[in-house]
Amino acid sequence: MAMETPREREIAAEDSIKVVCRFRPLNDSEEKAGSKFIVKFPAGGDENCISIGGKVYLFDKVFKPNATQDKVYNEAAKSIVTDVLAGYNGTIFAYGQTSSGKTHTMEGVIGDPNKQGIIPRIVNDIFNHIYGMEENLEFHIKVSYFEIYMDKIRDLLDVSKVNLSVHEDKNRVPFVKGATERFVSSPEEVFEVIEEGKSNRHIAVTNMNEHSSRSHSVFLINVKQENLENQKKLSGKLYLVDLAGSEKVSKTGAEGTVLDEAKNINKSLSALGNVISALADGNKTHIPYRDSKLTRILQESLGGNARTTIIICCSPASFNESETKSTLDFGKRAKTIKNVVCVNEELTAEEWKRRYEREKEKVARWKGKVDKLEVELSRWRQGETVKPEEQVNLVEAPDVTTPINVSVEGKLDDSPMPATPGGGLMIGSLSNEERQKLEEERERLYQQLDDKDEEINQQSQYVEKLKEQMDEQEELIASARRDYEQLQQEMNRIQQENESAKEEVKEVLQALEELAVNYDQKSQEVELKNKEQESMAEELLAKQVALNNTASELQQLRDMSAHQRKRIAEMLANFLKDLGEIGVAIGGESNENLKIAPPESNGKLEEEFTVARLFISKMKSEVKNLVQRCQGLESFQVDCNKKVSEYEKDLAEGRLLISQHEARMQTLAESMKEADARKRALEEDVDALREECAKLKAAEQMQAVTNKEKAEEKEAATKLRVALEEQMDQLRDAHQKQVAALRDELSQKQELISELKDLNQKFTLAHQQMQADYERLKQEEANKSVKLQELVLLNERREQARKDLKGLEDTVAKELQTLHNLRKLFVQDLQTRIKKTISAEDNEDDGGSLAQKQKISFLENNLDQLTKVHKQLVRDNADLRCELPKLEKRLRATMERIKALETALRDAKEGAMRDRKRYQYEVDRIKEAVRQKNLARRGPSAQIAKPIRAGQHHLSNVNAIRTGNRENECKNAFIDENKRIPAALMYNGYA
Ligand code: ADP
Ligand code: MG
Repeated sequence: MAMETPREREIAAEDSIKVVCRFRPLNDSEEKAGSKFIVKFPAGGDENCISIGGKVYLFDKVFKPNATQDKVYNEAAKSIVTDVLAGYNGTIFAYGQTSSGKTHTMEGVIGDPNKQGIIPRIVNDIFNHIYGMEENLEFHIKVSYFEIYMDKIRDLLDVSKVNLSVHEDKNRVPFVKGATERFVSSPEEVFEVIEEGKSNRHIAVTNMNEHSSRSHSVFLINVKQENLENQKKLSGKLYLVDLAGSEKVSKTGAEGTVLDEAKNINKSLSALGNVISALADGNKTHIPYRDSKLTRILQESLGGNARTTIIICCSPASFNESETKSTLDFGKRAKTIKNVVCVNEELTAEEWKRRYEREKEKVARWKGKVDKLEVELSRWRQGETVKPEEQVNLVEAPDVTTPINVSVEGKLDDSPMPATPGGGLMIGSLSNEERQKLEEERERLYQQLDDKDEEINQQSQYVEKLKEQMDEQEELIASARRDYEQLQQEMNRIQQENESAKEEVKEVLQALEELAVNYDQKSQEVELKNKEQESMAEELLAKQVALNNTASELQQLRDMSAHQRKRIAEMLANFLKDLGEIGVAIGGESNENLKIAPPESNGKLEEEFTVARLFISKMKSEVKNLVQRCQGLESFQVDCNKKVSEYEKDLAEGRLLISQHEARMQTLAESMKEADARKRALEEDVDALREECAKLKAAEQMQAVTNKEKAEEKEAATKLRVALEEQMDQLRDAHQKQVAALRDELSQKQELISELKDLNQKFTLAHQQMQADYERLKQEEANKSVKLQELVLLNERREQARKDLKGLEDTVAKELQTLHNLRKLFVQDLQTRIKKTISAEDNEDDGGSLAQKQKISFLENNLDQLTKVHKQLVRDNADLRCELPKLEKRLRATMERIKALETALRDAKEGAMRDRKRYQYEVDRIKEAVRQKNLARRGPSAQIAKPIRAGQHHLSNVNAIRTGNRENECKNAFIDENKRIPAALMYNGYA
């Protein structure tokens, strides 16, 4: 039947549902589990039978596990393309348990030439066919994509449509009302739509595998064509359905909502099963299409006007045997269903006229036949036997024209309802009126049903909206909860901080206590220090006095030293003078370089201390010089002495010589005189002798005379020398004595000088010592003053504390006073009572009064203890009161901290809010952009048709080529050149 073109078949034909069976290979898990391949494919050319467990099933076609997608398509689905393009309705649905290969068969891997399934191949083929058809045909193709889940129809091309209802059009053909329809003009567009639908399907669910195994997905391709020459319009709907898994619920082990779900899914599948059973059982008058939306949508496909192919998918594993069997049974039952197919044609007026003529002719023929039959009948009734030759041939029926599923209203009002085969029989037995009534009733009821459906749809949409709102609210709540948790955390943190602050307070209190203790210690120390200070002050005073004393002593000493110096100077001067004098006396050179600076006798100690020191050092050097000089002098003196003695000696010798010479001179003078006299005498003698004696005689005489004189002179000189020596000895003794005295004096002076030197040294040392002491004391004084200041500060603080304490003490004292008064009163009261009791029991009981006394003393003790406790309490109270302001301060700080934190938190929250808003805005923007894009992709409006002209070719036909439609390749190449989709042909949809 697939081979003949539908165009050739003008008549409505009964057409069995085609059932093909496909087995997939054993999958990994089945192989691992050791499942056996339990299906047998009996050898034979037809490949239409299988046997399982000895039971044989016959189908239109059986595909072995190794059957390729291409083979399955070519042998099970390809023919539907031509059918649909010829104006027939078509349906292909895959039935089978989960993972039996339904999706693999229907969809496969779109875009993969080998793995793509029926849907993409059909889509490509439809377009390729169109491109290859006559040019005067114009096509409008629109697609819808929805899924049925829990008996709710969810539009996969518009996520907001979550519960669409099924309505019947004017020809009683159910359709999904409000489902999005996309006009498409190329396979790529169709695939885009499929992708969009699939991604929408993914978005809505968490577990896609589970969801897809529990929902039916329906892809609808609606093809309308118009012959531009004769205005003939054909339309064909093609349902491509991937059913939910047909397995029993128990097997999946579903529970709770999943179980509900499964029941619901099974409900729709069992409704399908029921419909198929009812259809298979030719006697059933009522087909329960309305039991589920699935069966309503498939109403035309099952026993109606559609060419239907069911692909039953099975697993060959032994593990799935029962499921496989029930699937095969389902297929077997479905195979018996007969559909009544006819072309959906919208007739032109001329065509109608022709048809009308034809019908009229037919009616005339029928009428003739009826007349003949009536004649025959009347003859039979009259008891005649009509000969077989004369009988009207009942088999020979007048020509029956194709019942056309026209879309013009009211044209085919009483066309046979395929939904109720045999219904005519039943209706036939009813009267016309009843039939009319029943019809009306049914109409009304259907109308009501549709209304209810609509209502349900609205309600469910409302529910959906509410659900969305709920979700939003829940989200809000969740975010609020999160916020709350954050706040809680913050609170906890703050509390912890508070705790730590408390701890700190405790620590601070402890520190305070320690401080108090320290303070006591310090105050004691302060007292001690005060005492020390006083003693120090006293010491200082004493020292100062001592200093004064020493200063005065120093002054005195200085005076003394000045005095001494003066004296020394004087003495030295004297001494030098003496020495000089001595030198002078000795006759040596005077010591000119020995000069002593005149001491500044008027130097005042305080003012010219340095001068004094200088003076002292000068003095020292001078003294040293003096000593050196003394030494020099001594040696010089010794030398002098020596020289003196030498000189004395020389002097004596000189004097002796002088005196000798004087004496000689005298004697010589005398002798001269004598000689003169003698000369004269001699001259006279000479004169006389000369005359008488010669010269020799006179010389002899002269010599003799001189020798005599010399001896005499020697005697006189010795005498003189002795006298002189004596005189010299006397002089030497005196001199020596004088030198010894001087030496003694010198040594004495020396001693004095060294003593003075020592003294001076001592004084300098003492002075230095004093100065150091003075510095030290000064330093100490500075330290003391600093300490004193500190102490004063401490003292002030202590004073303050003392004042506070005093205040406290006052209050305590007051309270104590009141307590005391109370106590007194109490005691008085007691005493009076005791007295009373004593007077009352005076003579009665002495032991009793003793007991009373004991009691009193006990009470008094108690009172004392109480007083103590009270005091303690008062003290504690005071302490606490002291602590109170600090704690308050701390608390205030903590509060401020908390406030700061709160503001920070608020800020952070506001920031987060802002962020969220921004994010929301961003998301909205993106959504809007995506929507715009989608809109742009979809074209200006969902309602604008994109007509496709036969013989034309759309932009890309890669897929067509890929699918192996080799015969189209050259055609496509040709079409590519003539690519044209007239814009003028764009017009609003025909829906
Ligand atoms: P269903 O849609 O019925 O739940 P699927 O189509 O998703 O099952 O198939 C389940 C798995 O088995 C998939 O991984 C699929 O690729 C694989 N499969 C199904 N049929 C075949 C087959 N005929 N050949 C190879 N693999 C198959
Ligand atoms: Mg699937």
